[in-house]
Amino acid sequence: MTTPAYPEDSRIELLTCPYNKAHQIQRNRMQTHLIKCRKSYPEILKTVCPFNVTHLVKEPELAYHVALCPDRASLEKFRTQDELDRKDEINDEINVITYQQLGSSENWDCVRVENTYNPKSYLENACVLRQAPAGSKPSQRKEFRAAEFKRITSKKLGN
Ligand SMILES: [Zn+2]
Ligand SMILES: [Zn+2]
Repeated sequence: MTTPAYPEDSRIELLTCPYNKAHQIQRNRMQTHLIKCRKSYPEILKTVCPFNVTHLVKEPELAYHVALCPDRASLEKFRTQDELDRKDEINDEINVITYQQLGSSENWDCVRVENTYNPKSYLENACVLRQAPAGSKPSQRKEFRAAEFKRITSKKLGN
């Protein structure tokens, strides 16, 4: 690990070269310095950046590289998005469980069914009297209501 030096009497931030502690390099010159300096240490092996396998960095430079690696930022962003997606999935699961519990419960009541997340299932399963189609004759309306009543009662009995 490298220990960046922060001289108190200087406003210029100096970093310690990872290859040689005697090299105190300004932060904005470090990249250029490393290109030259690493040539003096050809025996030091390269290692792979944890954020991008195409980044080959000499071991002493790894900490410095990781701090600046452009793929680190994008990876952290990606991970956050992934966590958000996972939260949505969990919410969906909760909705499904809620719906199933309401549907199978013996004392389920009509009002609570409105909390289900799927409007289509709600319409198919809710024990709410649907209105007879507009323009129906009174006899048709009566018939429709009778059918509705039958549909709801059979659902309540669990048939
Ligand atoms: Zn150096
Ligand atoms: Zn990298």
